[in-house]
Amino acid sequence: MKSFLFLILITFSISSFAQIKFKWLGITAMTISDGKTTLFFDPAITRFGPLDFLPFKKIQSNHAEVDYWLNRCGVNSVQATIVNHAHTDHVIDAPYVVKKFKNKLFGSSSVMNVGRGHGLSSHELQEIKHGGVFKIGDFTISTFNTPHPPHAAGIMLMDGHIEKPIPPQASAWDYKVGDTFSFYITHPKGKILYQSVADIENNGPLQKLEADVAFISIANRTSTEKILTETLRPTKANLVIPLHIDNFLYPMKRTGEIDLWWGLKLEEFNQKLQASGLKVHVPKYCDEVTLLN
Ligand SMILES: [Zn+2]
Repeated sequence: MKSFLFLILITFSISSFAQIKFKWLGITAMTISDGKTTLFFDPAITRFGPLDFLPFKKIQSNHAEVDYWLNRCGVNSVQATIVNHAHTDHVIDAPYVVKKFKNKLFGSSSVMNVGRGHGLSSHELQEIKHGGVFKIGDFTISTFNTPHPPHAAGIMLMDGHIEKPIPPQASAWDYKVGDTFSFYITHPKGKILYQSVADIENNGPLQKLEADVAFISIANRTSTEKILTETLRPTKANLVIPLHIDNFLYPMKRTGEIDLWWGLKLEEFNQKLQASGLKVHVPKYCDEVTLLN
């Protein structure tokens, strides 16, 4: 009886006092955890260089590389793998993470076809739609439509939807974008916005959301001012964490400074946010950051 009460006490104290923590694993790959439940967004640790995009080339998830970074970052349990869109730099290692940690893949119909082709079964797949809500542990996740911007000069590469399962070895061009989601994550500890693209449409539903913490992809942004006006000031966030800052055409650097994405202007981003009184944290691979106390 005594030990039973002790167990209840421990469980109660963990659920009441656990902080929400975050770790970054490059591009927009990240874990958000309350100590009981870990969400893994956009696992794409395997990187591909420009030559891998040649039409006759086949690409695949590099499990040894993924294991190295999971180990190094201390990721040893995952309850949900959630993918914002189906390009390789967001989805390539998702099926492996689902199998390794015996959890479930959440994403668009295109992401589901990546999972199916990599041998995931229907109970490991959950398709999500724009305007939906799903729950994992104490996290409630709402999904928003934030269309993927063109890559350059108005041109969108790998556009369209993945209509049939993609096998583990396939061309990078098979990984078509599909629907693109941003996520609003609420938890008894607070609210987190993960805006997966830099620019959102004027007066979209995302603009009305307040959050304690805002994650935002800042690669290929139109301007920092636009992000500030459309997303960050309206959220009233206490903490802003920029994502999609490293160069995904290079392997994740195991030592030294990360390779920043070309033309990212991270300094300019930091300075403008700080000048408007916003706290910015530029993440480093594997560093644990407390988001909510
Ligand atoms: Zn993309």
